[in-house]
Amino acid sequence: MFNAAGHDQAPTAGRPAPLLSVVMPIYNEQEALPLTVERLRPILDELGITYEVVGIDDGSTDATPAIMQKVHQDWPEFRIVRFARNSGHQAALTAGIHRAYGDYVVSIDADLQDPPEKIPEMLSLAQERGLDIVYGVRGDRGTDTVFKRRTAGAYYWLMRRLVGKKMPNQAGDFRLLSRAAVDALKAMPEHQPVYRLLVPWLGFPSGEVVYVREERVAGATHYPLSKMLRLAIDSITNFSAAPLRLATWLGLLSLVLCFALGVYTTVEYALGETVPGWSSLFIGMLFLGAVQLVCIGLLGEYVGRIYSAAQARPAYFVGYDSAEEEVRAARREPAASAR
Ligand code: UDP
Ligand code: MG
Repeated sequence: MFNAAGHDQAPTAGRPAPLLSVVMPIYNEQEALPLTVERLRPILDELGITYEVVGIDDGSTDATPAIMQKVHQDWPEFRIVRFARNSGHQAALTAGIHRAYGDYVVSIDADLQDPPEKIPEMLSLAQERGLDIVYGVRGDRGTDTVFKRRTAGAYYWLMRRLVGKKMPNQAGDFRLLSRAAVDALKAMPEHQPVYRLLVPWLGFPSGEVVYVREERVAGATHYPLSKMLRLAIDSITNFSAAPLRLATWLGLLSLVLCFALGVYTTVEYALGETVPGWSSLFIGMLFLGAVQLVCIGLLGEYVGRIYSAAQARPAYFVGYDSAEEEVRAARREPAASAR
């Protein structure tokens, strides 16, 4: 299932590729999922195209797996990919993008914060203008808490400085990708891809669809501050060696400071005054210790990344994929009837 680089290879044999794949990471969404399905299905059915919905069950521990099984029975286009354990939103997105069969792939949250009504708009924009990427851009975050808006604002400000102006402001993980963009992403050996940075970095022809970020329909967020911080650190270290340079600058600055202090004390000594040095000595020592520790920490962040890239452990394990099951069943059938 995984190749040497840890990439997910789903068998596509025996399945006609749909035009559209909707990838949806789902983690403990027993309250929200039925409402999402109810709103999503008519929209996709009305499009009159072939499609699949790839529901990635990110190791849910509530009633979500049972609900997904039921949805799959009533709605054959709803495909289930189940992780063996919880691996995080970005890993679920990766699995979905790697396993989707469609010519166009739209990723969307399962809590109706991204309005599914925008999917047809994204698709027609991409088809009419021949675009490879259509970003869902949040026009209004009025329903988010002030804290979420502030932290998100800071995050996008920083990311735009790292990736450059190509990165649309306030574009999250609600977006459309063409097959070409998906294949480009799949070919990258990146281990913990942060798609909201990697996709703009591709620089493929892109458009935007503005939407209002709605309130979560039910249940609670799975993104506490710790996970948001993790995403921010991943984003920075994935994209920039600037923090390493910061270490160099801090080192140089403290060197200059030390030199200046040295000159000062020598002059004082020559003037016959001994410098009462306890506090300055101690502060200097502490300061240098701190600078060194920070630098080692920063280095560690990158070394850790190299380490995990060298280990090439898969970011997730797929325990079950309903599409694979169907392919296998179809292969078994002729053999069974020959008996
Ligand atoms: N999610 C996931 N795995 C996780 C956490 C979240 O697949 O470990 C899914 C979740 O079900 C939802 C999406 O990722 O569809 C976004 O998560 P959430 O709504 O909790 O984040 P927020 O919108 O509050 O940032
Ligand atoms: Mg949400």
